[in-house]
Amino acid sequence: MSRRRMIYEGKAKILYEGPEPGTLIQYFKDDATAFNAEKKAVLDGKGVLNNRISEFLMTRLSAVGIPNHFIKRLNMREQLIKKVEIIPLEVIVRNVAAGTMSKRLGIPEGETLPRAIVEFCYKKDELGDPLVSEEHIAAFGWASQQEMDDIVSLALRINDFMCGLFSAVGIRLIDFKLEFGRHFEGEMVRTILADEISPDSCRLWDYETNEKLDKDRFRRDLGGVTEAYAEVARRLGIIKESAQGGDVIDFTSGMK
Ligand code: C5P
Repeated sequence: MSRRRMIYEGKAKILYEGPEPGTLIQYFKDDATAFNAEKKAVLDGKGVLNNRISEFLMTRLSAVGIPNHFIKRLNMREQLIKKVEIIPLEVIVRNVAAGTMSKRLGIPEGETLPRAIVEFCYKKDELGDPLVSEEHIAAFGWASQQEMDDIVSLALRINDFMCGLFSAVGIRLIDFKLEFGRHFEGEMVRTILADEISPDSCRLWDYETNEKLDKDRFRRDLGGVTEAYAEVARRLGIIKESAQGGDVIDFTSGMK
């Protein structure tokens, strides 16, 4: 097998040069980090689950007209994606108070917000991805006004769709993080959804019990992290339950 050129290594994913111009391969690692990589672990099988969950969500979002970078899944840990120029913003959509919003504003975790709220953080690890306003984004030229308008409208459409999709399987979508990129299509540039959507980047609570089915299990030392991710995959119908009651997913085959 020829060696591929690595383009970028992040905390949970690696990007390699794709087979054709304008494409990349996105590899999902088992590494988990929190608090700007102060806390680290390797969680067996997490990358496989996130690859599958992100594929599922991106495919469904494409079907309802949300442009995104996903082309196809290649194997257990890799997917072929469109190459984009990442806009340096983490776009957070919140339906229910939790995490940093609860800390910052003193709203108890679990309180439903009056409406969906979109927040922006400047994507800069050295600074811990600080919260910024549209004024900062415009003044420093991180995104144009048109891109900001597109991002907010796409983020709210994604939120509506995902709230419905998760509630149908008994999961409450508390909040999530999105990233967008510039996709160059001939003379045109289009803002499209990029990165991943998975339990690493969403807060997902069981409707009945409020049990956390997301990365907060890792951040807050609750244990059972990959089991919770597998539960999300199982409820979405991505993985099947075996006759013995265990999930049928082979973490070892394909690319490690
Ligand atoms: O930490 P905070 O409450 O601001 O996170 C809001 C949402 O964004 C959570 O679902 C979290 O998992 C996600 N997030 C993320 N990557 C970051 C920061 C937040 O996926 N760097």
